[in-house]
This record gives sequence, structure tokens and C-alpha cells, in this order.
Amino acid sequence: MEFTEPAMRPPQEANSLFLRATQGCSYNDCHFCYVSRGYPFMAVKPEDLEHEAMAYKPFFSSNTKVYLTGSNPFVLPFNTLKTYIAAIRKVFPNFSELSMQSRIDDISRKSDAQLKELHMLGLAQLYIGTENGNEEVLKLMNKGHTAAQTVEELHRLDKAEIAYTTFYVLGLGGKGRGKASGLATAKMFNQVNPRRITTTGMTIFPNTPVAEMLKLGEYFEATEREKIEELLIFLENLNIDTFYDGIHYLNSLNYRFANSNKEFKRRVLEDIREILQNYSDWELEKMVNRKEKHSL
Ligand code: SF4
Repeated sequence: MEFTEPAMRPPQEANSLFLRATQGCSYNDCHFCYVSRGYPFMAVKPEDLEHEAMAYKPFFSSNTKVYLTGSNPFVLPFNTLKTYIAAIRKVFPNFSELSMQSRIDDISRKSDAQLKELHMLGLAQLYIGTENGNEEVLKLMNKGHTAAQTVEELHRLDKAEIAYTTFYVLGLGGKGRGKASGLATAKMFNQVNPRRITTTGMTIFPNTPVAEMLKLGEYFEATEREKIEELLIFLENLNIDTFYDGIHYLNSLNYRFANSNKEFKRRVLEDIREILQNYSDWELEKMVNRKEKHSL
């Protein structure tokens, strides 16, 4: 089986053993998504995973962390995931942690007992595109799950002791929905326990449904000012012990800090308020040059 999608991983997994388990996204229908579009969802056979792990054996320690590729390998049935883990254990009997990406509804399809068992077998962390806490925005972007479901499924991961890093897209709802999104997303995350919340700024890439919505006048992009205002209201209201990571080439402001570090956070909030007050709209747009990136 030949994968055509370039393999990607979150920066936190830079030192992990990187195994090509799946490509693409089984859902592939979020209006804003440019990542897996054009790549059919495919999964390798467990024996192929074992062969791949074997090829890397000389280069990784026996207790390496392992990351499985693809936009949502966690969609695979429980038994397939168990067979994958067994294949990796054959080659790396002491691997320390397994991580992969998941959609919220991929978690729904596993029972509590199955989640717990996967954790006992080595599944340590899921990376999840929760995207936004505003129900209207999730519907507009055809995300395929609600914010209420996000809270419910993340609670189930807590119970199973599986950690999670979540992705949040600033400006996803477009013009006029920034502040409501920031507040709703903080309220959503305040009910759960993400290890890390990473953000990126909404960017409209060609050949996506949202690009078509833009042309038809059904969607209007949020300005950079509105995205920053959304970030401010989000951070002001986020009160859990987590790590905020806004370092991304599609963000105009790149902050990274532990949310429990109150003094550092106070300075970040002050900085954002000063930027909003002292920079013109044009200067804020230049900070990220988004138009050059999406070439629409
Ligand atoms: S679930 Fe993720 S990868 Fe799949 S279509 Fe939506 S944003 Fe893209």
C-alpha cells in the first residue's frame, strides 16, 4: 500500500519513533480543512507496521515514545489498535508512550473499558482538533461534533487517564463571531483537563469549501484585530491548569506559557491589550501576512 500524503507530526513528537500507520482523515468534511483533503483514508496492515518498526530499531532506544501518523488513526476499531500496539511491542517491548491524532467521535465509538485497556497497553496521549467551543461555529464549519460532545468525550479520556492536547482555531467562525467564540472556548476547556491547548489562526486555503463560501458571500473572514480580541477574551477566561501554546506560523501573536504562571500570564494579557490599542489594522495584518499564505 502506497501512501501519497506527506507524513506530518506535532512538534512535541519530534523525538518520537514515527510510524506510518494511516494517511488522510476518515471524515474529511470540515469546511475549513486543507490538511488531508485529496488523500484517501488508508491504514496499514499490522505486519507492515511491525516491518516498519523493525527498520527503525537500530536508531531508537527500547523505551522510545511512538507516534502514529494520520489525521485520525484513532478511528480504527479497538481490535485493530490493539493489534498495532502488539506489533510495536514485538519490536520495542519497552516503548514508553504511544500518541496519535483523533476526532471527538472516534472516542465515542470506544467503550470506557476499551479506552482504559488501550491506556494500559501504552496509549498515553491523543491530539484532538476540538477547534472551537461555539456550537454555531462548529455547525457552520461542518465539524461533525458539538462542544457538548467534546466535553463529554474528554471527560471519558480523563477517566481512562489518557492525556490530550487540543487544537483551537482562532477566527474560525469568521467576522462577528470572535468574542463569542473566545468565551465559549474558554468555558468548554474550563470543564476538562487538556495537557496543552495549541492555537492557529483561521486561514482560507484554495479548494476548500470555506473558500467557496467566501466567494458566494456566505462567509466573511475575521480581521486580524478580531482574531486577537478573540485570543484575549479566551485567555482572560481560561482558568485551568494547562499549557497554552500559540507558536504557529499562522498566528500573529506567538505566546507559549503555563496558564498557572499568573505573573507571566498577566504580562501576556497586558501585552495583547497594548498591541490592540497601539497598532493599526494594517500593522496587525502585516504581523502574519495571511493573504500571502492563502493566495486567494
Ligand atoms: S477532522 Fe481534522 S483532518 Fe478531518 S476534515 Fe476535519 S479538520 Fe480535517
